[in-house]
Amino acid sequence: MGFHVQCFAAPCPHCHVVAAIPLLSDFAYGEFIYQTDDGHHFAYAMVIAEPAWDRVDAILREHAGMGPHKNDVEIDVFQHIIIRCADLFNGRPFTTDFPLCPHCGGKITSYSDKNRLYSLYIHDVTWSTFMALPPTDQVKTVMELLEQEKS
Ligand SMILES: [Zn+2]
Repeated sequence: MGFHVQCFAAPCPHCHVVAAIPLLSDFAYGEFIYQTDDGHHFAYAMVIAEPAWDRVDAILREHAGMGPHKNDVEIDVFQHIIIRCADLFNGRPFTTDFPLCPHCGGKITSYSDKNRLYSLYIHDVTWSTFMALPPTDQVKTVMELLEQEKS
């Protein structure tokens, strides 16, 4: 599958290039853009029917007492864990610090959907490796990531 996204101009505060960062509309419920931790690649996550989301959610509910109505901190933690459970993309993990500058890898702190540059086709995020783990290893992975989020 994959998805066409719109890229918008975002000046990088570190190297001063004008980066092209894909953003979704505010109404894109259950859709996310992920970016590799080197800043080079973007991918599309449509999570409404994604079994990995249900699995991570169930593990956090059962083992960490995180209920269905998460507060803002818990939502961040959940999002970070699910990002880090995703399959590598072009050999890289996804960043939990979206968006990064594709040129220098620095964090872009200011961006908006004011200046549209072009449309970009991006591939889907997948969670095949995580979902192929035995259930006990899935729990172990999620709980380790949770510990890292706390520290
Ligand atoms: Zn940069």
